[in-house]
Amino acid sequence: MAVKREDLLRELELLPVWRQRQELSTSEAPPPAPMYEAAPKPETAPETIREHAAEYSNSWEGVNPEGGEPAVMMQEINPPDELPAAQKDEPSALLSPAGPDRRQIIMQMDWPVLEQAVEHCPACNLCQTRTQTVFGVGDRDADWMFVGEAPGAEEDRKGEPFVGQAGKLLDNMLGAIRLRRGHNVYIANVLKCRPPDNRDPHGEEVAQCNPYLLRQVELIKPKLIVALGKFAAQSLLNSNSAIAAMRGKLHEYNGVPVIVTYHPAYLLRNMADKAKAWEDLCLAVKTMQDL
Ligand code: URA
Repeated sequence: MAVKREDLLRELELLPVWRQRQELSTSEAPPPAPMYEAAPKPETAPETIREHAAEYSNSWEGVNPEGGEPAVMMQEINPPDELPAAQKDEPSALLSPAGPDRRQIIMQMDWPVLEQAVEHCPACNLCQTRTQTVFGVGDRDADWMFVGEAPGAEEDRKGEPFVGQAGKLLDNMLGAIRLRRGHNVYIANVLKCRPPDNRDPHGEEVAQCNPYLLRQVELIKPKLIVALGKFAAQSLLNSNSAIAAMRGKLHEYNGVPVIVTYHPAYLLRNMADKAKAWEDLCLAVKTMQDL
């Protein structure tokens, strides 16, 4: 008889993986309330955090397994006022990795052109090994933006970020703060292509891909960005700090507040740190409330 994954997890005492506060998947479920109303009020949040911390954490100690050198960082952009007409008409002509104007040109793209540019991007070696690019998914008018590292195998197959096991946990994390994929939240990665064998992204790959994320942020204009894991946080914040040092603080990226938390894939391996991630989400909610 096949053993169900849930039974297995329960047997290992790994359930509940993440508790949702409301059922979000049924058709009769109401649309998610705006975060500002649904989130715990500031004065009650600490209690909520403690409750969840007690529930999800066996230990508050933890190593920082995500230390290490930062990736190549994002740089300031000064887009040109006018995009040459020829370049507007031919997005494929904009894709040369070496072109000096590449970054400025990307910063002028609208959604369809940007999507096309990413889809056909030849700017780094990852274009040779990807099945497809993974652009990003969700509400393009979202207040919330969650940014991860790079597509994994499943994302590479499906063309959508966070659809594997880490994605399921991310969905539950969103549900815990009454967000739902595609509703007032946009999910993207720093890299749009899968690094082979899920290796760490290389600096050159990040450098080539950065403008795409920058443009996504500019187009969405989220009120808050949640950086998922060391890699996304360091890339967005131009920092080489360890994730432990970046958590619990309000950062800023291009004028957008940024909260740093653990990557869901890390949380799957380090269940005890889910309580800390819950604290980070509460801080994100409170930040959004206070905006
Ligand atoms: N990890 C990420 O950082 N992004 C994904 O899309 C999937 C896993």
